[in-house]
Amino acid sequence: MRPSFKIYFLILVSFYVGCSDSITVSEQDTAEILKILASDDLKGRHALSSEITKAEDFIAAHFQSYGLEYANDEADYFQSFRIKEVSILDSELLVNGNEIDESRYFGFFSQDDVFLSSTNTEIVYLEKGKNFRSVFNEMRSSKEDKLVIVDSEYDDIFGRYQSYYSQNNRIMEGEERGNILFLISDEQVNNFSAHITASSKFYELRNVVGIIKGKRTDEIVIFSAHHDHIGIRTSANADSIANGANDNASGVTAVIQLANYFSKQPQPERTLMFVTFTAEEMGGFGSRFFSKKQNPDDIVAMFNIEMIGKPAVSGPNTAWITGYDRSTFGEILSASTENSEYEFYADPYPNQGLFYRSDNAVLARLGVPAHSISTTPIDVDPDYHEVSDEYETIDISHLNNTITAIAKAAETIVSAKATPTRVDTTLVD
Ligand SMILES: [Zn+2]
Repeated sequence: MRPSFKIYFLILVSFYVGCSDSITVSEQDTAEILKILASDDLKGRHALSSEITKAEDFIAAHFQSYGLEYANDEADYFQSFRIKEVSILDSELLVNGNEIDESRYFGFFSQDDVFLSSTNTEIVYLEKGKNFRSVFNEMRSSKEDKLVIVDSEYDDIFGRYQSYYSQNNRIMEGEERGNILFLISDEQVNNFSAHITASSKFYELRNVVGIIKGKRTDEIVIFSAHHDHIGIRTSANADSIANGANDNASGVTAVIQLANYFSKQPQPERTLMFVTFTAEEMGGFGSRFFSKKQNPDDIVAMFNIEMIGKPAVSGPNTAWITGYDRSTFGEILSASTENSEYEFYADPYPNQGLFYRSDNAVLARLGVPAHSISTTPIDVDPDYHEVSDEYETIDISHLNNTITAIAKAAETIVSAKATPTRVDTTLVD
């Protein structure tokens, strides 16, 4: 027996209501959310500023209004941790009996009063022809004290790291770190001694996390973006606030709107986690803390959203994915949008190393198919990390189309019809 027309009609109606195409992402809401996140009132959302809490409260209020639950054992939408900022007051370094000028060394110190010498500290040579960045990162995360002698071949990069890190000496509370001193020299070091005095200050930082529980609680799909930016800049003109409308109020707007979108859908098969990270611009502290709280094996995919407020070089209705060939995540997204106007493709800036320049990197290093989605022509964008990164420069309809496309493209992963392959951790560097 065939269903009567009436029943058939009801089935059609309920199918239509339950179908994702019937739910749209409101362009007006997108504009309003972005405008508030990028307003001068938030003073550029520097992670160590007091104004960043306004952004965090605003995001949490949206999660609340969509009925999102708290993650894991959290008592609210905030995932709090502390970082310690170390300011060097005085330092002295003697090598082979000679005093070394402080322009030739810098370091990371976990205490306020540090004595290092050749009797208690390992000496490591960073010789010619190595990858400076990777040796630097390895040494910097060492738990043991070290003196790293850097060959003068690395003069340029040493100088850049020195000027950056002299002002950004911060560590996460609870993370065990050695005292690491980097010295540029071609000399063989027979003996040395160093005395550093410093003062420390603690800051409390917060990620914002909300979840929609799926039928499978141990299979998690993450939608994330960093909510911090670079704060106040010294500027020649009257405007000194780096609003970060594109970087990354646009990504946070997407996370809020995706939370709204999925909260109106029937219960998903997989658990959805909506996260905004703090302190990305300061070196990814927020995503590092987050990754300690979450079993990476439970995370099926991470959609990390970065700077989607301007159309990509390949035109409107396109977005690119970092690390496209590192897992099948990109292929799945491309396949999901095959019959739509929107297209996802591989990151067109392979030389910029973007796969490791955002909050997806920590989880990708643990094997999670964690990728960043972006649209901004980052190599030529005049507003990147400038005070001109304002609401008025954002293409709202492009932003809203991109959020909509991500919602649709995520469908097969959210419903567990598709599962991206893991990132090969032996290739990750
Ligand atoms: Zn940035």
